[in-house]
Amino acid sequence: MDEIKLTADYHSHTRYSHGSGTILDNAKSASQKGLEILAITDHAVRHPIVGVSPKKYDKMRADLEEVQKGFDNLTLMLGIEANVLGMAGDIDVKEKDMSKLDIVLAGYHLTSFPYKFSDYFKITWNALTKYTMKSTKAQIARNTTMFVNAVKKHPIDILTHPGFRLDIDYKEVGKVCADYGTYVELSSRHKTPDEKSIEQLLSTDCVFVINSDAHKPENIASCDFAIALAKKYGIPDTRIANILGKKLDLRSKR
Ligand SMILES: [Zn+2]
Ligand SMILES: [Zn+2]
Repeated sequence: MDEIKLTADYHSHTRYSHGSGTILDNAKSASQKGLEILAITDHAVRHPIVGVSPKKYDKMRADLEEVQKGFDNLTLMLGIEANVLGMAGDIDVKEKDMSKLDIVLAGYHLTSFPYKFSDYFKITWNALTKYTMKSTKAQIARNTTMFVNAVKKHPIDILTHPGFRLDIDYKEVGKVCADYGTYVELSSRHKTPDEKSIEQLLSTDCVFVINSDAHKPENIASCDFAIALAKKYGIPDTRIANILGKKLDLRSKR
């Protein structure tokens, strides 16, 4: 593969959470960069202060549809980036609210505290100390269980930045994503997965998406880290879902 040209970016934030632009600003940037599809995926409700309540989904939809009228060659999708909240794999988007969304992403964020107090010790403590203390095998096993449970339990379309904040068994996470049809994100923003881990993911049958996770309009489709990783490890076109005008097969819509 010589050139990897993204035709879709399924992960971007706006002022509805803590992005700096509006839906229109993000759409303009996506259009300038030649994308065919852009998903607006602000943080879900348990993200402190900035999380989007499901009550706002209708307003966001109305805004998005208004913006869509100005773009013929770009399809906007309304999504959310849910928080994975503890060992049981729960997320902060209910299935009844998913019908208001076009796509559902989920990932772990340190500041979105788990539902169960015991998970602070099981998960949050490891996230707080990851960069100063090596994760233990037991911690990695618990983190892995959390993601595996989330993918099994909920129709998550894309697992965002796995490995960010928490060490995991990439092979197990890649396998469950392949089995359940959840795409695995290569994140330029968080530089995950790292080079040690990409080969473990590649040894499974999981399919990747390369996303910007842009919090500023100008960063839409800016994915140099992930594209370089994909090139270096020779990820085949068939395993990257947002190139060559392909469309995702969305679990949340099945
Ligand atoms: Zn995130
Ligand atoms: Zn994000």
